[in-house]
Amino acid sequence: MISRQDLERLIQRQNGGKPVLSLFLDMSVDSNNKRNHHVFLGQKRAQFEELEGNRPITTGNGNESGMGTLFERILAWLDTDFDESNRGVVIYAEVDGDWFETLQFPVPVQNRLVVADRPVVGPLAQVLKSYEHYGVILMDREHVRILSVHLGTLLDELEFHGDPLAPTTNHHVQAGGYSHKRFQRHKLEEMRHFFKDFADEVEKFVARYQPSALVLMGTDQNVARFKEFLPQTVADLVIHTGPAPVDGPAAEILARLEPHLRQEQERESQELLEQVRDRARHDYLATAGLQGTLTALQEGKVDTLVVARDGQTQGARCSQCGFVFVRDVNRCPYDGNETMETVDVLEEMVRLAEQQGADIQFADANAIADLRGAAALLRF
Ligand SMILES: [Zn+2]
Repeated sequence: MISRQDLERLIQRQNGGKPVLSLFLDMSVDSNNKRNHHVFLGQKRAQFEELEGNRPITTGNGNESGMGTLFERILAWLDTDFDESNRGVVIYAEVDGDWFETLQFPVPVQNRLVVADRPVVGPLAQVLKSYEHYGVILMDREHVRILSVHLGTLLDELEFHGDPLAPTTNHHVQAGGYSHKRFQRHKLEEMRHFFKDFADEVEKFVARYQPSALVLMGTDQNVARFKEFLPQTVADLVIHTGPAPVDGPAAEILARLEPHLRQEQERESQELLEQVRDRARHDYLATAGLQGTLTALQEGKVDTLVVARDGQTQGARCSQCGFVFVRDVNRCPYDGNETMETVDVLEEMVRLAEQQGADIQFADANAIADLRGAAALLRF
């Protein structure tokens, strides 16, 4: 499993002075139930061997290069430690160094291998972003069940039953002695009492798990009544409501919800793009295009960054001041430094946005072609 903390830790990682390999593997199975990551790994390995064949052997024992050893270690890890239920793997490792870290999760990533001075985090941010964490609340008048769901996987499950109210009047009156009307009133009072407790539990869940959205499931009447007990900030997180038996199997409920949640994500993404386009047209707190957006990021102005999914664009970073340029520059215009490192501009943008706590929205390259590769909503 991966979390935002993993991403932050990787971004803040101190440069260990050794080249870092970042490997992303699509571990989904094809129609024959087979995984095909070996093909990609084999191609990459052959490329490295070809490159190294032209260089003097630098390792001590003279028969295995750092890359060769690393590939062996990666294959061994995949054989023994990969969990077959997962669909995506990321491996970070120092070439000729000690650092070897693996992450695996239930969603696929695009195959990619990069060796650079820092770990590549863009695809990881993309995975985190596209499968946000949400809470599913299943309720009836007697109990509530809260499912915590991340990357389509059930992480945690909480359940609460209402504490029945003692009859408010004469305790010695037998059940049959209650008038029908009084009994009804008692049940209604009890429901309010339960709903208030359930709402407290949902509020606690939101505070503790920080879901990006909530789904509320139950009969229309119960859902409508229950919503009134939720604080506005919590009620605002509800993106979908619908009927579901409170005791239904979690896997079934999640499978049924999946299309609704995808649709909702798509709708939100469309809304954001419309807003960016509208603002960009009026030249109001927005940027469109790689250079303008990159500059705004480096000035700390970005509220929400929009970039292409699985995109890469070559640019340059000044080795002295760290400024990134979309175009090839031979000399930094800020400090005159002439040493430029080749970088992936989109990766640099994701890093900057994450470091500044800006939101990131990934969109299909075709869908944002009119925005020229990247765009942003600005804070000022
Ligand atoms: Zn510079």
